[in-house]
Amino acid sequence: MTARLAILGPPASGKGTQASRLAERRGISHVSTGDLLRAAAVAATPLGQRAAPYMERGDLVPDALVLELVEDELQDAAGFVLDGFPRTESQYAAMDVPLDEVVVLDVPEQESVRRVTGRRVCPEGHVYHVDHDPPEVPGVCDVDGEPLEQRADDREEVVRRRWEEYEDQTRPLIALLEDEGVSLGHVDGCGHPDEVAERVAAQVD
Ligand code: AMP
Repeated sequence: MTARLAILGPPASGKGTQASRLAERRGISHVSTGDLLRAAAVAATPLGQRAAPYMERGDLVPDALVLELVEDELQDAAGFVLDGFPRTESQYAAMDVPLDEVVVLDVPEQESVRRVTGRRVCPEGHVYHVDHDPPEVPGVCDVDGEPLEQRADDREEVVRRRWEEYEDQTRPLIALLEDEGVSLGHVDGCGHPDEVAERVAAQVD
């Protein structure tokens, strides 16, 4: 059965972790527009070069660029778990496939800032927290031995800006989805990722 799911939430709410677990469990693809944009920026493609300054400031990347990146992924007949897309009313309006289920991960801003400033990532996308989920060897990924880095947009002032974008652009979209009767549930994103995964499963299964 096709499953077209989306996980939304403010910065460091655990979207990536939960979307990847859910996608694995369902055997469908995990589509993170943040990951796709970061990969395009690192590869310095024309699209990546245009998107990078927005991401560094914590602004949303213009819809046209994001839609270009995600277009093909939305045609996956088996379904997908979208992570951080759609994020604006116009991105949602541009989708030509329906969403079966939307999960909104809620965390307070203070918790999000705490998570972000301690977050470290490896180039392959494995995620750690210096205090709450440290790697065995400081600064080195347990899985592939790659050096860990702080995401350029994980500085406190940039996170505050990402929150403003969430409040200004994504909250109105969530209200619209609710008005339209899209199946949507809020899940408490606080606590251990395993606990949050159980709440997400209870919401979508
Ligand atoms: P994320 O990894 O979801 O936290 O996204 C990181 C950054 O990528 C955001 O702060 C935006 O600059 C950009 N981004 C990711 N997804 C979108 C989207 N759907 N629309 C616009 N910008 C996005």
